[in-house]
Amino acid sequence: MMAKYSSKINKIRSFALSLIFIGFIVMYGGIYFRNSPLIMTIFMLFGLLFIIASTVVYFWIGMLSTKTIQVKCPSCGKHTKMLGKVDMCMYCREPLTLDPNLEGKEFDESYNKKSNNKKPIS
Ligand SMILES: [Zn+2]
Repeated sequence: MMAKYSSKINKIRSFALSLIFIGFIVMYGGIYFRNSPLIMTIFMLFGLLFIIASTVVYFWIGMLSTKTIQVKCPSCGKHTKMLGKVDMCMYCREPLTLDPNLEGKEFDESYNKKSNNKKPIS
């Protein structure tokens, strides 16, 4: 079990997890075609492909998590990990940025809905 990282990594992790589920569902679907070995094999290979893809994503998460920076959240005071120059606090979802110049720029639309709660960390 990996440690809980920032929300960006959590999003990627749930994506990787969903790939595993899709892979198993596709492989399970192949059982319905057990009378046709060719179709069943195709289903199994597709399912395997999803599972391989999720392994790659998990590997990518491992690479990304080495690049996280530990910061103290200005809002809740807890130590959180952030990835890149902007991320969210994993405890209180406070938007965080390391670079004040990037404030309001690199946050995507969903972050921009909350207008004035971006606090720089110095
Ligand atoms: Zn916080």
